[in-house]
Amino acid sequence: MNCEHNPIIEASGMEVVLGGQKVLDIPSLKVYPHEALIVIGPNGSGKTTLLLSLALLLKPSAGVLSYKGIPVQNSDMLQLRRRLAVAFQESLLLNSSVLENVTLGLRLRGVKGREVNARAMKWLERFGVAPLAKRQARMLSGGEAKRVSLARAFVLEPEVLFLDEPFSALDSPTRQGLLEDFESVLRETKVTTVMVTHDRNEALVLADRVAVLMKGTISQLGTPEEVFGAPVDEEVAGFVEAGNILHGVVDCQTDGMVSINIKGQKIQAMSGLTCGSEATVFLNYEDVTISLPSPEIIRSSARNQLRGRITRIFPFGYQVKVTIDCGFPLAAVVTRLSGEELGLDEGKEVVASFKATAVKVLPGAKKKA
Ligand code: ADP
Repeated sequence: MNCEHNPIIEASGMEVVLGGQKVLDIPSLKVYPHEALIVIGPNGSGKTTLLLSLALLLKPSAGVLSYKGIPVQNSDMLQLRRRLAVAFQESLLLNSSVLENVTLGLRLRGVKGREVNARAMKWLERFGVAPLAKRQARMLSGGEAKRVSLARAFVLEPEVLFLDEPFSALDSPTRQGLLEDFESVLRETKVTTVMVTHDRNEALVLADRVAVLMKGTISQLGTPEEVFGAPVDEEVAGFVEAGNILHGVVDCQTDGMVSINIKGQKIQAMSGLTCGSEATVFLNYEDVTISLPSPEIIRSSARNQLRGRITRIFPFGYQVKVTIDCGFPLAAVVTRLSGEELGLDEGKEVVASFKATAVKVLPGAKKKA
């Protein structure tokens, strides 16, 4: 993502009224070329309405929506829609073969001859479903159908890809596998993407920027580090579960327990990621406990015990957020009373402890801001 570029999509003063209620109020939103903008928010916050509006499938009640600087009302809608692709929560596959489902959009766009099948097969392969090309689409499992639906969107080589909860309703391993494949495709193609989800982990893995939608308005927009690390208010903090985002490399793995190297420090976590994999680590502030250095700490059940010095103490609602330099910055929240009892102060040496099971390990490297 490069914010110096002109936005590919720009919404200003955009409002949507449904059933007499204003369900969306977006004073300003810009989507930049090649970024993955992930919109998160609770159910009913307006995510789908925002996606449909940006994808030109729902006409806002007020405001201006521009594509590449040109207001959409001054553009040829059909031409414009052909530059976009949308994949919905339901795979919505037609009752024909997988290959026909994936080639239809190309044929409608006037692509002819061998190129049609070649392009379709390339994307079916990329999503690991090429052997199913001749299968009737209605006979697919939920995970396969979602893969076909993603291939159908990517084959169009859209300027902007819109996705509405593309990984929902899948069991956890299927979802994780698809998420990993999708992440590598996004990284490779760099297609501008707007995706809606209520799943914080998907945002952590995929987002260049995260927009948090609450009651129809964007409460916070920023990098995952900004949104998850420093939520603007308690409502956002409550939804995103504020926490540490760290980046490292898996050192070794034994029976599902990994050691992850973060700036030279090792932390233990549960994950199936293999040695050498890049990992994004998420750790809730609440899951980190702070104690004073003493020999007894060794007997704690927490597998991770890192010594460091407090670099910052900051009010965090009714609690205080304490940042510790453990070789990398690690933050915890403690009650004001605990902070006082422990005599926490900037510069003081402490031990930060957390269980291996509290660490959420996600595949993927640090996003470029
Ligand atoms: P989300 O995707 O975040 O769950 P939606 O965009 O689906 O939220 O819905 C936002 C709000 O708009 C909700 O309160 C929903 O009830 C309302 N809404 C959605 N579609 C309609 C409709 N066709 N008529 C009236 N209200 C609607």
